[in-house]
Amino acid sequence: MPARSKALPSVRPRPLRARTYAGTPRNLATLARVLRSGGLVAAPTETVYGLAANALDPAACEHIFLAKARPQTDPLIVHIEAISDLAKLAVVNPAALVLAKTFWPGPLTLVLAKTALVPAIVSAGLPSVAVRMPAHPLFRRLLRLAGVPLAAPSANPFGYVSPTTAQHVRDGLGEKISHILDGGPCSVGLESTIVDLRQPARPRVLRPGAITRAQLEQALGVPVLAPPRRRTPATAVAQIAPGLLTRHYSPRTPVQLHTRLTTRTVSSGDPREAWVFIAKPPVLRGKNIHWFNHRGDLPRVAQRLFALLRELDQAGFTRLHIELAPGRAGLADAINDRLRRAAAI
Ligand code: AMP
Ligand code: MG
Repeated sequence: MPARSKALPSVRPRPLRARTYAGTPRNLATLARVLRSGGLVAAPTETVYGLAANALDPAACEHIFLAKARPQTDPLIVHIEAISDLAKLAVVNPAALVLAKTFWPGPLTLVLAKTALVPAIVSAGLPSVAVRMPAHPLFRRLLRLAGVPLAAPSANPFGYVSPTTAQHVRDGLGEKISHILDGGPCSVGLESTIVDLRQPARPRVLRPGAITRAQLEQALGVPVLAPPRRRTPATAVAQIAPGLLTRHYSPRTPVQLHTRLTTRTVSSGDPREAWVFIAKPPVLRGKNIHWFNHRGDLPRVAQRLFALLRELDQAGFTRLHIELAPGRAGLADAINDRLRRAAAI
């Protein structure tokens, strides 16, 4: 062994540390032990893969920030197993209970005043905490076995496209973490809707997601404010919801957005540039022609969004021209929010 390692050129890529685990009962028990003893585990949720640590252990949470190179000013979402755990972490109000009962387990995160149990590193020093009860069966089993709430941001280097498969996690963090639980591709594919309930009479969406403002309004019976305007100075947004940076979820290849792509725009374009349609275009074919979903079915577009951005980012195109989802409401709003952040400079 020593002789062999001597002969290896120093340019050899660093070995991947990460081991990928299937969701067997034995592996889940092992991974829950890792979490209880302060380690990190990347695991699937229905939204994207999360990088989880015991939310009550500040040292474990610090490792999340280090592995992701995430600034400590960006607070973490805490995942819980049951609605009854919410009151341990957050000051619950009736509006929060209505939303929890209507949408949990599911892709909705509630921002509320925090309790003393939540370490400062989790809330980035804010007096609030973001909490979610995820629906993915493997993540739920991990929560139950670990017996602690789990802080889990997306399992990717900070600012890059979120991971929706175990392989995406490996590609981004394979050298930084040791344990990846593989649950297949995520069913939603976009990060959770975040709703701010610190002022329960004036709920506000901080990040659009699969659960829409209309659904929240229907459950609460009051208007729900839209996310803070993107043009707000960065400092002001940071005070409301740190981490909602304009540039996020970004491929390295420059992205240019289009309200509508037509055959005409594309045929006059540069072949080194890729064209990405929401639905399959009628006639165009070629290495640089892509679409998110055959029929432009928005839940499927959301599922495929980050995976296709990653594939195209590796393909060597000089620019990605991407068509926005039609409409402003619901899932189109969440998809376009991610596309705009991917395109932001
Ligand atoms: P993620 O990048 O999916 O981990 O989402 C975390 C985002 O949730 C942060 O960037 C904030 O925008 C929001 N968030 C988390 N915790 C809080 C908090 N305590 N107060 C306000 N927003 C929060
Ligand atoms: Mg993230």
